[in-house]
Amino acid sequence: RALPVDPIKENYTRQVPNAIFSLVEPSPVKNPKVVAYSIDALKLLDIKEEECKRKDFAQYFSGNVILPGARPAAHCYCGHQFGYFSGQLGDGATMYLGEIVNKKGERWELQFKGAGKTPYSRGSDGRKVLRSSIREFLCSEVNHNLGIPTTRAGTCVTSDSRVTRDLFYTGNNIQERCTIITRIAPTFIRFGSFEIFKGVDNQTGRKGPSTGKTDLLLQLTNYVIENFYPEIWAANSGQEAKVLNFYKEVVRRTAILVARWQCFGFCHGVLNTDNMSIVGLTIDYGPYGYMDRYDPNFICNSSDDGGRYTYAKQPEICRWNCGKLAEQLAPMVPLNKLREVLEEFDGHFDQEYMRLMRQKFGLFKSQPEDKKLVEDFMEAMYKTGADFTNCFRALSKFHSEDDVRPVVEYLLNQCCSAMEYKAAFAPTMDPRQLEMLMMLSQQNPDLLAMLGKQAGALERELELASRAGDMKDLDNEKKRKNDVKAWTEWLSSYNQRLKAEFAGQNTDEMRKQRVEVMDATNPRIVLRNFIAQNAIDAAEKGDYSEVRRVLRAFQKPFDATVKYEDLTGFDSAVEGAQGGDV
Ligand code: AMP
Ligand code: MG
Ligand code: MG
Repeated sequence: RALPVDPIKENYTRQVPNAIFSLVEPSPVKNPKVVAYSIDALKLLDIKEEECKRKDFAQYFSGNVILPGARPAAHCYCGHQFGYFSGQLGDGATMYLGEIVNKKGERWELQFKGAGKTPYSRGSDGRKVLRSSIREFLCSEVNHNLGIPTTRAGTCVTSDSRVTRDLFYTGNNIQERCTIITRIAPTFIRFGSFEIFKGVDNQTGRKGPSTGKTDLLLQLTNYVIENFYPEIWAANSGQEAKVLNFYKEVVRRTAILVARWQCFGFCHGVLNTDNMSIVGLTIDYGPYGYMDRYDPNFICNSSDDGGRYTYAKQPEICRWNCGKLAEQLAPMVPLNKLREVLEEFDGHFDQEYMRLMRQKFGLFKSQPEDKKLVEDFMEAMYKTGADFTNCFRALSKFHSEDDVRPVVEYLLNQCCSAMEYKAAFAPTMDPRQLEMLMMLSQQNPDLLAMLGKQAGALERELELASRAGDMKDLDNEKKRKNDVKAWTEWLSSYNQRLKAEFAGQNTDEMRKQRVEVMDATNPRIVLRNFIAQNAIDAAEKGDYSEVRRVLRAFQKPFDATVKYEDLTGFDSAVEGAQGGDV
């Protein structure tokens, strides 16, 4: 495939050999204002809530005033984007500030995203806008509270400085507010950090800026092992074994990470190697999406025309990315040894996926048929157009065959309510907007391709929505028949499985325990697109209360008293303007 090459951008690319970090300075912004802060994240840095209320807080967390002791630097990295090696591509938009050892002795790296140009910004401005910053800020904290390993977000500070962005790549520019988020993690080093050493790539002819610098590669690798994998570093083993054990652990953590995404219906959207954390965290919240209705082919990134990063493909893509990391470690360990370790990926994935799924189903014992039970559940969700989060949450209402009928009713109602709000917020269903986009797309074939893909998805939405309307009409048994059948069948096999689990001791105590585990594993709410978008819409008008309210509600995503219906009205809800991290 011919790669799209932008000659202007290519000319701007400045190769920076021999560098892992370059010293930089944040560029100031006008009138910085705190949109929100996450005290839970800031506590990692021993920052107290009173300090967040200081008048100069926004000055520090916009980069206008350098935090005492900080030494801003931009990190040089490469990456495979959509399967192709892109050479040096990051970090043009984030800055390392330093590391803080807190009272507990934990060490945390602090980073700004959107604080201005760096030597790696190429033709771009190094800025981020309000909408993408709020999306990253909220989801980092939500995912943490769900138990998904992730980088954290401490602050979101906007300003009166503006940058130009083109929402739909149409040439219709809009001015948006420069916004800076503070990110926190043990480290932001990624697989792509190791790809600066890559030799000439066969497919693209590109190479890493530090190709052949084996000393520097060894230094980076040992730095990462010593600081982030101290047990491996401390073990009494030679250099090769250390690197191999480090790789083994990266493979394990990555498999566990993606297993958790799958269990919560989270789609990352841009699983390029530069967005893969070396310590196994979710990193880079761009066009990510939580699935509403279950669809294995769910794509949340509107520029992913080939569907490389669908929900269902995430595990194999993460594994592929681990394979790319292995190639970079090859100067230190024979590649065949690394590839042998990579074989462990699927086992780790399956183990974590099934462990969590069992919890989601309220099963304590492991049975050979469990995998099929999960697959059939997914199939039933797909067939009936059911909402991923709501269906799992509904399962704790089921205990025995007496519950089949009411639970089927309940599940179907879950599907209906999911569709009602979907119908209310999907802007692609607004014919006027669609018409406008069609018009614009005549100037831009990429947009047309994107619309074409959405039109297919739209058709299914409409079909399911009309069935939802029918299902609400309880007399219309005929239309409901297939959906009722799908769920009844699944619930009866679930019931068989539960019988084996209870082994004739279906006691109140056991039920209670089961419900507790399930309701602590199946969240009541996830960060659906429209929830984030409502917060963004209000923030664009200068009202930050919705961002703060959502952040607060998601401190307890498993709590039965928090209903997303209470969070936002469906009326004003519109689907998030996607297209990623801008
Ligand atoms: P992403 O696709 O979000 O993983 O971004 C990949 C890389 O694109 C980043 O590491 C940056 O180097 C670069 N980039 C993204 N946004 C900007 C921006 N606004 N200004 C400069 N560089 C950017
Ligand atoms: Mg990135
Ligand atoms: Mg990004």
